[in-house]
Amino acid sequence: MITVLSGGTGTPKLLQGLKEIVDPSELTIVVNTLENDYFAGVYVAADIDTVLYTMSDMINEEFWYGIKDDTFITHERLEEIDCPELLRIGDKDRATKIQKTLLMEKYGLAKACEIQAKNMGLTSKIIPMSNENSNIKLTTDIGELEFHDFLIKHQQKPEVLDIQFSEVSPAEGVIDAIKNSKAVIIGPSNPITSILPILSLEGVKEALKETYVVAVSPIVGSDAVSGPAGKFMKALGMDISSVGVAKLYENFLDNIVIDNEDENLEGEINQIINKVTITNTIMNNLGAKKNLAQIIMDSIP
Ligand code: GDP
Repeated sequence: MITVLSGGTGTPKLLQGLKEIVDPSELTIVVNTLENDYFAGVYVAADIDTVLYTMSDMINEEFWYGIKDDTFITHERLEEIDCPELLRIGDKDRATKIQKTLLMEKYGLAKACEIQAKNMGLTSKIIPMSNENSNIKLTTDIGELEFHDFLIKHQQKPEVLDIQFSEVSPAEGVIDAIKNSKAVIIGPSNPITSILPILSLEGVKEALKETYVVAVSPIVGSDAVSGPAGKFMKALGMDISSVGVAKLYENFLDNIVIDNEDENLEGEINQIINKVTITNTIMNNLGAKKNLAQIIMDSIP
């Protein structure tokens, strides 16, 4: 069994490669839930849905959000009747979210995800990091902002001064998955808002210390490949580089995969992490995704 820790953009790209070279029934994916909340009456677990759609080949790869070729009839009608929604939710995607909301209210989030993964014909285990909702507080140069307002309304533009989130308990299966795996892969996801929430769950860091852990850096050069990871790392006083990522994971990481462009950082990172693997980490086509996945799998003892 291989466990992957995932957010909703970088790691799903890696999963597309991984599922081609590893039997999907051997994969457990623990997914960030920090950003989960109700929007327009439905529960939105964006990263979980992205992982579900990625594993079932339905993902809209333009946004790494929603279902490809979806329609937006309900979204547009909501605007017409003066009930606009913050998120642009497609019609088929909304059906997934309605189903998840109903299942979750009855059985909890983890069970809801298990049922939805089975419905989509998936054999991988997809586990939310927690059944509980997190509170996230973002302090910016224009004041305190709701996380989704920062991302969508303000288009990630304000400077982030601080970021804090509440502690939640791990969902059933999270710690066991890590402990019982041959290796844990920390995908190239936002270290602060996708991976740190998983690392902060009680028992996760201790379980990672007992397992072989390999991480792919989401930072290439001096910024994230996409999204606000750099801004968040800066807000927490970290170096926006693969060195900063290595420092964040240093207590349990066995191998860090960095991009060819960061070859010059090898020596510095080697002072922090025993093994540094240098390769192309930019996953802009299936070949690149499979190559990276293969290099990671080959590095596992
Ligand atoms: P979110 O939930 O949408 O924020 O998504 P994630 O946390 O999974 O992913 C965001 C991170 O993925 C960003 O920090 C990006 O730098 C990283 N990322 C996206 N695409 C790539 C890629 O092709 N290669 C690498 N190394 N990182 C990537």
